[in-house]
Amino acid sequence: MRRAVCPGSFDPVTNGHLDIVGRASRLFDEVIVGVLINQSKSGLFTVEERIDMLREVTSSYDNVRVESFRGLLVDFCRAQQASVLIKGLRAVSDFDYELQMAQMNIGLAGVETLFMPTNPLYSFLSSSLVKDVAKWGGDVSAHVPELVREALATRLTQP
Ligand code: ADP
Repeated sequence: MRRAVCPGSFDPVTNGHLDIVGRASRLFDEVIVGVLINQSKSGLFTVEERIDMLREVTSSYDNVRVESFRGLLVDFCRAQQASVLIKGLRAVSDFDYELQMAQMNIGLAGVETLFMPTNPLYSFLSSSLVKDVAKWGGDVSAHVPELVREALATRLTQP
């Protein structure tokens, strides 16, 4: 069984994330989307909300599961019996940091990192940019699934 983990914050999931997850699902027997629980950073959505949205928008993939993790990513990989991490690379600016992480992770636990170039349609897209645009009423419908667009609209208009 060849398993890969796609880790991230997914606050919230965007079409850029989904493109990576979908492509990974065609390359591996199983893909586990790992949602980081970061106690020092509160997101717009709770981890449970992010997981619910991810489960919904990946439900058409039979071999994709969504789980949360805290602590070291390599420990999560070990617990899930996955030896590969998939990371999307948007621009050269992602590369420096990702290279450091990849080298640390292979040193810590022999977990390999494979970089997948972003679909050019989504190369400028990040969860934080989507939140900023949505906050000021901009149209994000081309960048996130419809249920995420609705969740953003609801959350950002709450007093
Ligand atoms: P962000 O908050 O920057 O959107 P996450 O921490 O949730 O990102 O990202 C998880 C993973 O998804 C990372 O490997 C990141 O490089 C990748 N990713 C995020 N956005 C995109 C995108 N638009 N295209 C390709 N990969 C992406």
